[in-house]
Amino acid sequence: MKKSKISKVFMLPLLTITLLFMNQCDVNEDAVYKRIRVHADQVKIINTHEHQHWPEEFGDYHFRFYHLIAASYLASDVSSAGANGYDWSLMDSLSLDVLWDMYGKALDYTSSTSYYSQMVRGFQKQYGFSDLYFTKENIAELSPRIEEHYKDYKSWFDEAFHRAGFELMFLDQWWKSYNTQIDEKYFALVFNINYLISESSHKPEKGSELNSIYKEADSEGYKMSNLDDYLAFCDHKFKKNIEKKVVCLKNSQAYSRTLYYENVPYEEARALYDKPSSQLTPADAKKIEDFMFHWIIQKSIEYDLPVQIHTGYLAGNGNVLDNGQPIKLNNLFLEYPEAEFVMFHGGFPWTGEYAALGKMFRNVYLDLVWLPQISRQEAVSALDVMLDCVPYNKFFWGGDCGLIEESTGSLEFAKDVVSEVLANRIERGLLTEEVALIIIDRIFRENAIEVFQLEKRLGREF
Ligand SMILES: [Zn+2]
Repeated sequence: MKKSKISKVFMLPLLTITLLFMNQCDVNEDAVYKRIRVHADQVKIINTHEHQHWPEEFGDYHFRFYHLIAASYLASDVSSAGANGYDWSLMDSLSLDVLWDMYGKALDYTSSTSYYSQMVRGFQKQYGFSDLYFTKENIAELSPRIEEHYKDYKSWFDEAFHRAGFELMFLDQWWKSYNTQIDEKYFALVFNINYLISESSHKPEKGSELNSIYKEADSEGYKMSNLDDYLAFCDHKFKKNIEKKVVCLKNSQAYSRTLYYENVPYEEARALYDKPSSQLTPADAKKIEDFMFHWIIQKSIEYDLPVQIHTGYLAGNGNVLDNGQPIKLNNLFLEYPEAEFVMFHGGFPWTGEYAALGKMFRNVYLDLVWLPQISRQEAVSALDVMLDCVPYNKFFWGGDCGLIEESTGSLEFAKDVVSEVLANRIERGLLTEEVALIIIDRIFRENAIEVFQLEKRLGREF
């Protein structure tokens, strides 16, 4: 009894001191987070992956709120919640009220997702939007402002690009991958090599319509009668991209096939290429394609170009998830120590093996692109693990979006995530604030300048 009385007397001040201390920790952690986050806002961002479109590339639409949502990742979550996909042709003609009736409920169901929150972050930064959720009422306020900006998107893009803090975006135009005319004021050219691989097993039959690479070859006067011709034309495309200051290659084939590329001998690939493509078995077709990617990697070494590869989760609403499992690239990493590989997206949901590959191979880099948008929390947890495993000169960040509002949200989200992870590591005594700021600079800027040799390739100072 006595004992407990004494304890109580001591307990109260002890509890007060503990609470004060805990509170102090929170305050400190918060202050540290804020300082790091402010620093992140001062970095001129080198964004290593975008799919920026001019609005007219989507078609002849009159852009308003729902068009932006339809062009964003969030559209997939809205479908996943049960709504019909956004109908672009209807969006131009229906009123905002009718569109809310069609999509509002599903949009509300997505309000916990990272796709949703990063769109909100984009509107907060670019439109001064202050709510946490989209509502019928605030959409009615946002939409006319969007409409106004999109009347002159190029001016709006310029203004928003700088407000977001971008200095340069790597542009992967997978939908027109032979285009080399880009606006160098904002973009650096990426050569998407998907078609070079996939069309090697889709040789047009006599009289049939030419698919893209054969059409290109035809227009440039190249004959394509055997594998050597095909390779010569691909090499010509490499040279053309290099003339236009290409900074890297991009493979996003996980959307249509496995990332496991066998090493197929040239003679075998050549014999298979000679057969009519319609007579190839799926296994034969895969062999030619596998050969092509090995050939492309060898070219990447010859031309000193890093190879970006989509790994992990696949955008949209239905695909073969394990196509993109990072471990399937292991043989390539072993076989080509002189090549430089950049794995994308944290390999989600295989973030552990993604980090392990980045740790094991000197020439394998990790681009956090899109990971915070897929899952903010997974990005926080996975980056913490990655920093345990992988030196910080091996990370990049990219936005991976089609329009400037979403890219802005993607960047804001990524800065939040990286700052949170670093502040937490400082709190745990694993990191000094000084090094945290260096890591921010490295992830969002310096690593890209160094690894992609931007000063040399683009002929300008960074
Ligand atoms: Zn992408």
